[in-house]
Amino acid sequence: MDQPETPEQTAEHIRAAGSASFGSEVHGDTAGDRWAAGDDGRAYGFETLAIHAGQDPDPTTGAVVVPIYQTSTYAQTEVGVHRGYEYSRSGNPTRTALETCLAALEGGRTGLAFASGLAAEDCLLRTVTGPGGHVIVPDDAYGGTYRLFAKVLQRWGVDHTPVPLGDLDAVRAAVRPETALIWCETPTNPLLGIADIAELATIARAAGARLVVDNTFASPYLQQPLALGADVVVHSTTKYLGGHSDVVGGALVAADPALGEELAYNQNAMGGVPGAFDSWLVLRGAKTLGVRMDRHCANAARVVDLLCSSPVVSAVLYPGLPDHPGHEIASKQMSQYGGMVSFRLRGGEAAALEVCRRTRVFTLGESLGGVESLIEHPGRMTHASVAGSQLEVPSDLVRLSVGIETGDDLLADLERALDLG
Ligand code: PLP
Repeated sequence: MDQPETPEQTAEHIRAAGSASFGSEVHGDTAGDRWAAGDDGRAYGFETLAIHAGQDPDPTTGAVVVPIYQTSTYAQTEVGVHRGYEYSRSGNPTRTALETCLAALEGGRTGLAFASGLAAEDCLLRTVTGPGGHVIVPDDAYGGTYRLFAKVLQRWGVDHTPVPLGDLDAVRAAVRPETALIWCETPTNPLLGIADIAELATIARAAGARLVVDNTFASPYLQQPLALGADVVVHSTTKYLGGHSDVVGGALVAADPALGEELAYNQNAMGGVPGAFDSWLVLRGAKTLGVRMDRHCANAARVVDLLCSSPVVSAVLYPGLPDHPGHEIASKQMSQYGGMVSFRLRGGEAAALEVCRRTRVFTLGESLGGVESLIEHPGRMTHASVAGSQLEVPSDLVRLSVGIETGDDLLADLERALDLG
């Protein structure tokens, strides 16, 4: 087949490619049915899917790890006759394995991998909205996502309204006839706000709009938005899915195969795809997501206890705390509360900057979700791009990505850094 020109051709193309190498029907289609259910009809568990979905032993060599297909093109036996792959922007077997695995982990029909989380977001937004369209966005979200709406899409005629997603009446009131999408991030970056996915899905359906959930903070191990009624899940795979701070990547997982086909078409048409090695790194990270998340959560709970008892801390933002406004909803839709913790300092911005300067095991740096603990000042770092907007974050805020190091070492490091007396 030539380069696919229509969504239908893309679907045909990826069907052919998937069956050639991995026995799945469609690239990223819920692990091809092979991993959808066990031999006894029982569904496989999360960790089994993470390690096996899309990752059958290599048919040529028996290699148990999916090879890095570091190739841009593929030999054709005759003009237009090939084994499912012809050019690596359109499809690459290492990427197919990742996409199939991601679809299985999120319980979706189509998984698509991208060069970054923002490339995934851009592809989604230009697929489901257009000039004259409108999107409801959280009033607390990753700054780069907001920047995409405010500085890029606005110029192309896509309007947006920031709304506190915890206030469902405010969400309903913000819906317009041209609203194509409700964009949800939960927990949010960096304020750890919680939105009710099932309720937002109901509002979106009633409005004839779609619900997209950025599931980066929770990861599919802790929260599965498609099962709660979301249409699409977005990931920065740079974070927990990759898990080792050695790759930048993004993903979309769609519940509806027809939307999946449109997204796959635009993934190829727009071209923001990851290379084979980056796909392989994310796939390797995904295999250990479950055990890592358990440790992230356990360490975060200990860090939260310490912060709550510190006299220099004025507030601890963590959905696992019973007095967190989203605690009840988080308990309903997440299996644990995650590895991200934010807190505010009584001493204001100067104290926040000082704590960031003092830690030694927590590395001062942007990003999150890796095995190593990170500390940052959102106002001056990850969220500097929202200064002056409705999404501006408090200057006394510090964000922690709690890693999987020895818990005692993390506590000792923070205790030292918080001793501001
Ligand atoms: N979504 C969230 C919640 C994020 O934290 C980030 C990045 O920090 C992104 C999306 C964007 O992902 P990327 O940096 O991989 O483009």
